Amino acid sequence: MTLEKLLRFGADKLSKSGISEADLDARYLLLSVTGISPAMFLIRKNQEADGETEQRFEDLIQRRASRIPLQHILGTQEFMGLEFAVSPDVLIPRQDTETLVERVLYDRKGIEGTPSLLDMCTGSGCIALSLAVLGDFGQVVAADISPKALIVAEENARRLLPRHRNNREDQGAAGNERIREHGKILNGRADRFQLIQSDLYENIPADMEFDIIVSNPPYIPSQDIRDLEPEVKDYEPRLALDGSADGLEFYRRLAAESGAYLKPGGRIYLEIGYDQGLAVSSLLRAAGFINIEIIKDIPGQDRVVAARWPQEGTHV
Ligand code: GLN
Repeated sequence: MTLEKLLRFGADKLSKSGISEADLDARYLLLSVTGISPAMFLIRKNQEADGETEQRFEDLIQRRASRIPLQHILGTQEFMGLEFAVSPDVLIPRQDTETLVERVLYDRKGIEGTPSLLDMCTGSGCIALSLAVLGDFGQVVAADISPKALIVAEENARRLLPRHRNNREDQGAAGNERIREHGKILNGRADRFQLIQSDLYENIPADMEFDIIVSNPPYIPSQDIRDLEPEVKDYEPRLALDGSADGLEFYRRLAAESGAYLKPGGRIYLEIGYDQGLAVSSLLRAAGFINIEIIKDIPGQDRVVAARWPQEGTHV
């Protein structure tokens, strides 16, 4: 079979399995099997594929047809123009979440010096690391309850923050260590990057204070998970999705506990589900936050709530 015919065969099979972007997914899988670039594919599409290529491609198509996410097969997902390693232990980075990162980068321009940042529920590390690479931050701390997620975040830190690669003090597994620290990274763009295994603030040292706290916590109401696409409900970690019966459990805890870790005037940015803007705003208001703002994503849905912790002596 020619490469072009192989592609058609794969796309048809995926389409029959109910996959909406069947053509695109088949194309990615074929490029990955052959190791050729999209431009090279156009030149070589009428060449015959060898038996081994056909076999390997059919195998990947079979896996994708069973609704395994494309990103789990390829092992990566692009986010903010950077390539992140992903596994079944972390939520696959979503384009929606770029709304949060872009807003933090925009607001960051108005802050002098090198602000410190905490990313709570970091997963793959996509928020913390894209901000560390694209912004100019001091200390960056990324926390997650899942040691397995922290292994993925650490791999991404090693890939994206060049000085980490030479920093071999780690043993390659998060294990039971609570705090893993990686010093001096990225040509001064972030002074320090730390991964901390923690159930929200449980293991965050009480004397730590940040200019910015960000989080994309689990926020799907438990009973809604069964209605999600098979890729999400069967293959992504429930731990990263399930926000309790009403979906708001982590916002309750984040609203109540984050102020103690923010500098006066510091900001918080929380990703939310499209219908959670008012509820999350009220939780933040009740906890003493001010300047509460709901930010929409590109399709026009509410996606982020941002707020500020008051300056000392400010009563609003
Ligand atoms: N936006 C994700 C989804 O729709 C959910 C992310 C989350 O719970 N933090 O699958």
